[in-house]
Amino acid sequence: MASFDVVVIGSGPGGYVCAIRCAQLGLKTALVEKYDSLGGTCLNVGCIPSKALLDSSEHYHNALENFAQHGIVINKPAIDFGQMIKRKQTVIDQTVDGLKFLMKKNKIEVFHGVGSFATSNSVTVTKVDGTSETHDFKHAVIATGSKPSTLPGIAIDKKRIITSTEALSLPEVPGTMVIIGGGVIGLELGSVYARLGTKVQVVEYFDSIIPSMDRSLGKELQRVMKKNLGVEFFLSHKVLQVTNQGDHTTVTAENQKGETVSFQADYTLVCVGRKAYTEGLNAGAIGIEQDQAGRIQVNEHLQTSVKHIYAIGDVVKGPMLAHKAEEEGTCVAEMIAGQKPHLNYLLVPGVVYTWPEVASVGYTEEQLKEQKREYKSGQFPFRALGRARASMDIDGFVKVLADKTTDEVLGVHMIGPRVADIIAEAAMAMEYRASAEDISRICHAHPTFTEALKEAALDATDKRALHM
Ligand code: FAD
Repeated sequence: MASFDVVVIGSGPGGYVCAIRCAQLGLKTALVEKYDSLGGTCLNVGCIPSKALLDSSEHYHNALENFAQHGIVINKPAIDFGQMIKRKQTVIDQTVDGLKFLMKKNKIEVFHGVGSFATSNSVTVTKVDGTSETHDFKHAVIATGSKPSTLPGIAIDKKRIITSTEALSLPEVPGTMVIIGGGVIGLELGSVYARLGTKVQVVEYFDSIIPSMDRSLGKELQRVMKKNLGVEFFLSHKVLQVTNQGDHTTVTAENQKGETVSFQADYTLVCVGRKAYTEGLNAGAIGIEQDQAGRIQVNEHLQTSVKHIYAIGDVVKGPMLAHKAEEEGTCVAEMIAGQKPHLNYLLVPGVVYTWPEVASVGYTEEQLKEQKREYKSGQFPFRALGRARASMDIDGFVKVLADKTTDEVLGVHMIGPRVADIIAEAAMAMEYRASAEDISRICHAHPTFTEALKEAALDATDKRALHM
């Protein structure tokens, strides 16, 4: 048995960042991970592998559809899907190796096995071979993440009725795929396969895709994915049942008119969200409370009902995003060390890595209307930007929402080339409570995609975009 200042359970982006920050602050830290591989969902079956496949499939799609217009003549490209999946695995392996190095560098003790609270000051780690060891802690951090969830009537069989995890390692490029859920993960993976030639149909319960983001973004993304990739969307459809028919699947749903409709596809990918994961943690036994959705309940300082035990990331409320988990990990480490950090949840950006990319920070137009807040809106289309025309990425726009009286930026919503990166500028501006005019007066390099933000800010300030 060893004693630690902090034991972090779960090595995803929440847990490992928390452990590193604890170690930087001089705390004796241990990290417990049930799998052999560190990095959690993000590194192994989430952010990193999905982006690796998005990049590969985008290269293929560009070679197929866009090279000729650039004057590049090649033989019709072919897909070596095995190599694509192998490269993705190499990216994961390199990233996980990097993480192992960081643990060593920061002198964090790593235990592989299921972490389970023995008492409110000790955790038992049970290894795959059944042996276990128990370690004491002054503070613990629960960072056990989430798992894919499903709907009544849908049993995931991991063969033809699959989740994002299986979709990242399919044995073949499917001929057809139905995706249940028009949220971020479904649309990213749908883009991967549509680019590789799969006929993709998206069935969504709400009347819009990416429904939690500003409405205008979903509308534009749906239009572009249909135009560029041939993805078909079936909105306002309630899925009732999915069955595996051996060599294909059948999805039964109820449409807007109350009629029963069905879809057949080689694979059905279920992307209806994720649920907090706490199996084996034994949290209830030491008095840690969970809400109805199974998430660990925390106060504004991320403390559970047992005050010296904290919880962060997907296992608690808030957006299920790696960077949100990381920020919470940092905050908790600093609080344990006696500091007073602050995290502004309004400024956690949301990104969809389709092409065009989608990115958002702050309030949506719908939220401002609901709050009855008086605001003004400025918008600039990428097609009016020289940089976008040069790269043939003219779909999309940037929208800036600012307070009608003070001009303070309240929300920025973008769809277009590289907006996943541009959103950082909007988040930074909002962190410093910039006005739209502040952004518009910053010199932006020309020609860059970032000029669209400056132009949208000019439009929001007093309708004086320069290139529109
Ligand atoms: P996780 O990453 O889920 O890690 C939890 C870890 O805890 C796991 O390794 C698990 O094995 C371990 N664990 C659980 N219970 C125990 C136990 N009792 N003992 C020991 N270990 C335990 N987010 C983004 O921000 N950007 C993206 O581009 C993005 N893309 C995504 C794509 C896909 C396909 C998916 C599925 C998710 C994506 N996400 C993305 C979401 C992101 O992966 C999660 O928000 C993030 O991983 C949450 O981090 P976490 O540390 O809370 O938990």
